[in-house]
Amino acid sequence: MSWRDLMCGEPRPDHVGRTLTLAGWAARRRDHGGLVFVDLRDRSGITQLVVNPERAPEAAKLAGEIRNEFVLQARGEVVARSPETVNDRMPTGEVELAVDELTVVSRSTPLPFQLDEENVDETLRLRYRWLDLRREKLQRNLRLRAQMVGIIRRQMEAAGFLDIQTPILYKSTPEGARDFVVPSRLHKGRFFALPQSPQILKQLTMIAGFDRYYQIAVCFRDEDLRADRVQEITQLDMETSFPDKDELFRLMEEMFAAIWRECLGIEIPTPWPRMTYAESDRRYGTDKPDTRFALELEDVTEVTRGSEFAVFANAETVRALRVPRTFSRAELATLEELAKERGAKGLAYLTRDERGELRSPIAKFLSERELETLSPGPNETLLFAADDWALTSRVLGQLRLQLGRELGLIDDSAFTFLWVTDFPMFEWDADEERWSAVHHPFTRPTDDWRDRFHDEPREALANAYDIIVNGNELGGGSFRIHEPDLQARVFDLLALTETQQRAQFGFLLDALAMGAPPHGGIALGIDRMTMVLAGEPNLRDVIAFPKNQAGLDPMSGAPTAITPVQLDELGLSVVAEETE
Ligand code: ASP
Repeated sequence: MSWRDLMCGEPRPDHVGRTLTLAGWAARRRDHGGLVFVDLRDRSGITQLVVNPERAPEAAKLAGEIRNEFVLQARGEVVARSPETVNDRMPTGEVELAVDELTVVSRSTPLPFQLDEENVDETLRLRYRWLDLRREKLQRNLRLRAQMVGIIRRQMEAAGFLDIQTPILYKSTPEGARDFVVPSRLHKGRFFALPQSPQILKQLTMIAGFDRYYQIAVCFRDEDLRADRVQEITQLDMETSFPDKDELFRLMEEMFAAIWRECLGIEIPTPWPRMTYAESDRRYGTDKPDTRFALELEDVTEVTRGSEFAVFANAETVRALRVPRTFSRAELATLEELAKERGAKGLAYLTRDERGELRSPIAKFLSERELETLSPGPNETLLFAADDWALTSRVLGQLRLQLGRELGLIDDSAFTFLWVTDFPMFEWDADEERWSAVHHPFTRPTDDWRDRFHDEPREALANAYDIIVNGNELGGGSFRIHEPDLQARVFDLLALTETQQRAQFGFLLDALAMGAPPHGGIALGIDRMTMVLAGEPNLRDVIAFPKNQAGLDPMSGAPTAITPVQLDELGLSVVAEETE
């Protein structure tokens, strides 16, 4: 016996008159005084079953018991619907199945939520994820994800990349997060670290002569959770020897173009614009600019030197956003709140209403020269940030995004891709009082900085690049250090003692010393790419079985305690436990 002759989304007028078997879930049941209608659903769609007691008395008896999400098998005749009952919104809407035989294959307990219910609590959805995943949106997101991964694999294989798997139980790789660790039973007191990325290992595949590596790799980062972060991320990870930046960029652009074309039917123009980090920061106040709209930051430091307005005069940097509208006092207060959340002390503004009147508490302190240069046009507002450069970027970059959204400046259907390049190599870690690598410590300085990054670590630039679309960072990579002495010099600057260098990265330094080719690569976030592709705001909705926002799995209860016997075998004892 076969379970079905067609999928539920397949019956068409061509099938009228044929007797067929379908199987699937009861999505909805309606009783119409004797006649029972059941929407039978599987992954392909829905067919309407009609159970008529006159035609099939046994089936009609059973139909009364059907509840949502029962699994059914129905055999019957495909019949044309009368013109007034044709449903144009369903691909199968011109026909229905007049049921002769009905089997309840599986029953369901009462559902914790209905599949068509909106705003179901996310923890409840995750607790019953198998039900949640039956929803159309999640089915679509996961199919899109699989389609995308298929295209990625095809493109990578076609370009000669070799899929090489790297271990999950391994050693810490520095990607800037905490490690998840796994205790070793065989070697008590020792721990594996789950990879934050296969960074060192992919470099070793280059040193091993594979020339082009890729992997769809799961990476683990024990970060504090934010709305758009998960601790277990999937990457397309790749590396190439004797790298050529134009070729690498083209390869990525072609891959994205293929994904967007095949998944969405959208042609994305290539090549993408390239912008240095410095330019991006200067114009947009961020290293991941949303370039779907203009509204760029203006540097007005020069104009405000020697200002009577002390806030301007005393600040290292004064920058402004020129916004094409006026705001009420309440709106300005909200914007100021936002600026303060980002660390600003206040939000100075100059605004001119339609009648040409200048309104601003600071205007009286500004000289004629300042007013002349800064003066807003009619119906325009200047919002200022005055502080050190980084803070003005943070504040105005955020205001820019907020206003872009609020003022409807963003075309939601657009995708603007770009490369951001030439990142700083290092940033000062004030807590640890030492330099840390902005990307990771294997990133190559630009040629220009190769021999002098020590002198001005703050200014030194890396041969690193990110892919940005609509203000989202979809991936990043770099050319790597392949010279052991250069690598040791970077480690020195990062204040790693020789003993630490040997203990943590001795194997990499040894490998670099045995004929390492120049190499470089990139990693793309598969989860985030799916999110952008699907237009899905929630990262967890493009992952089949995600943890919740607290990093827990409400379905299995993971992470869970382990038994005293397991602890003993591992040579561990728990000294602090979470108390709820
Ligand atoms: N390993 C890096 C990351 O995970 C990417 C790369 O440099 O290729 O961000």
